Amino acid sequence: MKIPFVDLKVQYENLKHEIDRAIAAVISQNAFINGPFVESFEKKFAEYCSVKHCIGVGNGTDALFIALKTIGVGRGDEVLTAANSFIASSEAISMTGARVVFADIEPNTYTLDTNKLLNFFEQECKRDTSTGNTINKKTNSVIRAIIPVHLYGQPADMEPILKIAEHYNLKVVEDAAQAHGAVYKRKKIGSLGDMACFSFYPGKNLGAYGDAGAIVTNDSDLSQKARMIANHGRLEKYNHEMEGVNSRMDGIQGAVLSVKLQHLDEWVEKRRRNASLYNAYLEKTGIGTPTEMDGVKAVYHLYVIRTEAELRNKLQTHLGASGISTGIHYPIALPNLKAYRYLKYMPNDFPQASKASMEILSLPMFPELTSDQIEYVCDAIKTFL
Ligand SMILES: *Cc1c(COP(=O)(O)O)cnc(C)c1O
Repeated sequence: MKIPFVDLKVQYENLKHEIDRAIAAVISQNAFINGPFVESFEKKFAEYCSVKHCIGVGNGTDALFIALKTIGVGRGDEVLTAANSFIASSEAISMTGARVVFADIEPNTYTLDTNKLLNFFEQECKRDTSTGNTINKKTNSVIRAIIPVHLYGQPADMEPILKIAEHYNLKVVEDAAQAHGAVYKRKKIGSLGDMACFSFYPGKNLGAYGDAGAIVTNDSDLSQKARMIANHGRLEKYNHEMEGVNSRMDGIQGAVLSVKLQHLDEWVEKRRRNASLYNAYLEKTGIGTPTEMDGVKAVYHLYVIRTEAELRNKLQTHLGASGISTGIHYPIALPNLKAYRYLKYMPNDFPQASKASMEILSLPMFPELTSDQIEYVCDAIKTFL
């Protein structure tokens, strides 16, 4: 048996008729950039996230960058994010001219460790009493925002994060690129922070047929400003109120996403069913399986298991030899990347993110994965053990 890591072809085959028709409609109406197909998707996606506004943009990285610009982050500021994520979470911070501050993760959920986060603010920051700003004592810069990452589709623990943000006068921009449809304590992911950013990269839980992303928010002023920044700083043609960027959603992507959004909840349920099948087969094997926090609905963008470091690479090789594709998300924690050497962190500054990077392994996960395929993967793991 050959088991791919993700299979976008089956999904297309199941929706071919609707998708082909949607794409043809965009072309025949010449609605290539923004326009009615994007507007219609924005409306439906805002509703899906239980928020008032959605702005379609070029990709998820731009969504984060534009959201940070919208809340006023720029040169001289600092923004904090998780040490275990895709580089876009921190790249977007640097793109604004601000400095990245990493924080360690909680080892069971792989999202921000909120105790360490609070410690950081209590021990390493001070308040500027005249402005209410929070200052990093080490750099003397103002920390403006936190980007919690709902990694692998597991919501970050937003309650303490929002409490810390309120107390320290910080904005919260959710990185929801892997968490479309996830729920945290009865609230949809995307509706919890000041703004939230989604990616519709083809392999994401809701994927376009090219690059696309979105920002969602309940704040009308932030929504209007983000929409302007994404479109050359204008709402009306040639009336530029500021300089912005060119990051708009293509009509074809809006049309494809509208078709696919109708199926997202069903796909989420299938991902959750697949995760519980994996959990059941891997019980009592000693393999670490994902933990869902109480009151949380994870959407399993990835199904990440955990072994001892010496076993991980051998297990991956063994599964590869059995025709099973796996991945590592991510093999190097962000602060340990060459790209962030200039921040002068030590490998032990983020013990949990560093340890996780050596022990985690992502198994095949997509809605159409069958129970036979899952059993085959788990049997191959048991044979290896
Ligand atoms: C995919 C991803 C992004 C960036 O999205 P793009 O659309 O690829 O730019 C940001 N953050 C996380 C956690 C992601 O997985």
